[in-house]
Amino acid sequence: MLTAKDYADWQELYKRLKLGIVPSVNNPTSGPEQKETHVTHQVCVTGATGYLAGHLIQQLLEQGHRVNGTVRSLSKSPKLAALYELAERFPGQVELFQADLLTAGSFRSAIRGCSHIFHTASPFQLNVAHPRRDLVEPAVKGVEHVLNDVAEVEGVERVILTSSVAAMYGDVIECKDGPIDEQRWNTTSSLTHQPYQYSKTLAERRAWEMAEQAEYQLVVVNPSLVLGPAIGQIPTSESFNLLRRLGSGELKTGAPPLGLGVVDVRDVAQAHIACGFSANAQGRYLCSGEDTDFFSLAQRLKKHFPTYPLPKGKVPKWLIWLVGKTVDPSFTRYWVSRNLGHDFVSRSDKIQTELGVQFRPIEPGLVEMFQQLIDQGVFE
Ligand code: NAP
Repeated sequence: MLTAKDYADWQELYKRLKLGIVPSVNNPTSGPEQKETHVTHQVCVTGATGYLAGHLIQQLLEQGHRVNGTVRSLSKSPKLAALYELAERFPGQVELFQADLLTAGSFRSAIRGCSHIFHTASPFQLNVAHPRRDLVEPAVKGVEHVLNDVAEVEGVERVILTSSVAAMYGDVIECKDGPIDEQRWNTTSSLTHQPYQYSKTLAERRAWEMAEQAEYQLVVVNPSLVLGPAIGQIPTSESFNLLRRLGSGELKTGAPPLGLGVVDVRDVAQAHIACGFSANAQGRYLCSGEDTDFFSLAQRLKKHFPTYPLPKGKVPKWLIWLVGKTVDPSFTRYWVSRNLGHDFVSRSDKIQTELGVQFRPIEPGLVEMFQQLIDQGVFE
């Protein structure tokens, strides 16, 4: 959890940045060593406060690129602390801009002068009050607004869109038709069934439609569930919420038998960079390090955190079918029959063979992530 001292420290940092005490031009004597042959770019990352975007920005800066990050609000917020820390570590390489997915034209100034646009911003929440308003509209309008702004400015070579494996399948039962890969599209989600998956599918489809006649190239990254430590203190992603549910005791009698793919956040960031700068990158890239299930993740955590009330076993599918909706409104019988008790099977070869991205084992990052939640007092 952020202490009063942390808060004061980053407020001080904020003031220094605003006053320009931290140099605003690239300082070749500080920061990481650059290889002389390495070409660096001015790039834009939307949703800079996000969990994935944090790692992406950090890796881009380490490689010497200059990043225009967009955030929903520039007013002082602890959410910006990690970005200010990066700005201090990499002087002159980070600039923040205010932009909202729902506001036309708001990304233009951040995009101007950039050759590559990493569009990560999109709501990632599984339980929302109004799926159209809270998920579909920001996801789809966000793609439209960002790509319209890209078309308005000159010089953008490539847009790298963060889609999701959710745009490739809706329910785990679909793995019976073969492993999930880049050929697959989600055709089963809707506003009332798997609305997050629906929002990602519509947003990616809209991006491909808009890119058809465009001068820039679109490359899409489709990660499975992203796990691993956050760079900042206040991770908001649903990834952390899922882990919180595992460790809070809420599921201590048993985890649902839910199959899923998982991937380390640092590998997803690297995948974005490979999709951005590899000359041969094209199309969609599924990014999933391991096919597993919810209970297996809990078992791996149990080895490291034996005193936490992690699930002891799997709850039988029939029991969730009978009473699930009283525990969680999204556990409808339709959802249970199509998602529980089926193996998740995927194939992520394309990004490995075409772009050389390798996936690390999930356990170390999972453990670090859980430790972050403990350190923040989330389970107290
Ligand atoms: P996150 O931490 O919640 O990041 C989402 C970002 O989108 C935040 O920066 C958020 O800004 C921004 N955003 C949301 N609504 C916005 C709006 N109306 N205007 C401007 N910005 C808005 O989640 P994440 O896990 O890093 O997700 C990043 C991307 O990866 C998303 O596109 C998500 O669908 C995709 N993805 C995630 C996973 C995963 O397991 N985490 C898997 C596959 C794909 P605020 O901070 O202001 O809310």
